[in-house]
Amino acid sequence: MNNSDPRYDVLIIGGGVTGTALLYTLSNYTDIKNIALIEKYSDFGLVNSASYNNSQTLHFGDIETNYTLDKARSVKRMADMVMKYVENEKKSESSLKLFSKYSKMVLAVGKNQVRELKERFPAFSQLFPHLRMIEREEIGRIEPRVLEGRDPEQEILALVTEDGYTVDFKKLCHSFVNNALRKNPILDIHLDTKLLKITKVEDHYMVNTTKGDMKASVVVFAAGGHSLMYAKSLGYGKNLAVLSMAGSFYTAPKVLNGKVYTIQVPKLPFAAIHGDPEVHNSEVTRFGPTAKPIFQLERHNWSTFPEYWKTFGVGINPIISLLKIVFDRVLLSYIFVNFLYDLPVVGRRLFIREIRKIVPSIKLDELKFAKGIGGTRPQIVNNTTRKLEMGEAKLTGENIILISLRLPAHQHVLGMPIQMLR
Ligand SMILES: Cc1cc2nc3c(=O)[nH]c(=O)nc-3n(C[C@H](O)[C@H](O)[C@H](O)COP(=O)(O)OP(=O)(O)OC[C@H]3O[C@@H](n4cnc5c(N)ncnc54)[C@H](O)[C@@H]3O)c2cc1C
Repeated sequence: MNNSDPRYDVLIIGGGVTGTALLYTLSNYTDIKNIALIEKYSDFGLVNSASYNNSQTLHFGDIETNYTLDKARSVKRMADMVMKYVENEKKSESSLKLFSKYSKMVLAVGKNQVRELKERFPAFSQLFPHLRMIEREEIGRIEPRVLEGRDPEQEILALVTEDGYTVDFKKLCHSFVNNALRKNPILDIHLDTKLLKITKVEDHYMVNTTKGDMKASVVVFAAGGHSLMYAKSLGYGKNLAVLSMAGSFYTAPKVLNGKVYTIQVPKLPFAAIHGDPEVHNSEVTRFGPTAKPIFQLERHNWSTFPEYWKTFGVGINPIISLLKIVFDRVLLSYIFVNFLYDLPVVGRRLFIREIRKIVPSIKLDELKFAKGIGGTRPQIVNNTTRKLEMGEAKLTGENIILISLRLPAHQHVLGMPIQMLR
């Protein structure tokens, strides 16, 4: 550490869609100039923001049946900003194809689900004027394979809208960075630069990285599950742990024209199974995600195994919390069956039962396990309440923000109070 180390007003850790959204927001909507971002890999958006690692959906709250009206209102406000951003980018010269637009629907199957959806519709249609309630015939016109092979006696109903945004979040990262640089060419962006250690020294933070040391008045973490590890090293979030929930997908040749979601199981904090066209290839339909706990902070990356345990914490406390959470009857059977979905041979045969709730006539040989596809969701465990935090987790300290670890993280950033960074 010496006086020649660069000093920034704001340093962002992590170049996924959260970190780059923040970089863009600060560059465009504040007068803070002296900003830096560090990313440990050689490119932006290679972890959970990579298009192959998530479901590529811009969530508005219209077809996510686990959202209350209030939650949907706040998610919509943020999603609208992302939607306007990508639409504006499309209008400008940008060669990046950031999104594709498809129809999207949530499908209720059976008496109880149909009743639930009918009750939901009046309030949600006020908030989402393009949302329509449709019955069997129209469902079949929009998504023929949702009807093909379905018991004609089975009650079905759907809420549908044409505003289904499928976003390539990695490309969105690039777009955010390019536009941030256009506005503020003196931004300091360091790729291949990993944060090793952070300490608080008087009025600033001292940051040791693989490429040398830097100082920052304010630090914002956008490093996914890793954020909590560094928070703990600074004395924050000691009562929290991470449950890393990996999600896998199955693919099929085009069986859906747009997105089709199923009704959410209320107790589960994970998205219900859905079918989505690939963002850049509508000829492929992706089904998932599944959800199983893993002991890594990044999927398919065993070097994050020790980091997972540092984040989880030592001692009996997080283990008791985890056992208490996992041994809930609904969650336990859900996790058990989700483990099976990832297994060769048997996984496909079991998962097809879930997919047939959407596409009843799908055949086993149409389905393929999407190998190497799917990231992991850092789910926060609260060791005080011994519960999973269901919403976005946000932790702030003295001139430091250890931000959102939950979906949809980037939407959250675009709506965050920037005054905190002043
Ligand atoms: C299966 C699945 C499906 C999903 N579907 C959706 C969806 O449909 N819609 C949606 O909105 N969200 C979805 N999500 C969630 C979404 O992927 C995340 O909310 C989003 O990608 C998080 O972005 P992020 O920038 O916070 O994290 P990441 O994209 O993981 O970025 C974190 C960055 O921090 C960097 N980093 C970590 N440690 C360090 C360090 N020490 N030094 C420097 N850099 C570091 C990493 O390299 C990485 O680039 C899904 C997630 C999963 C797993």
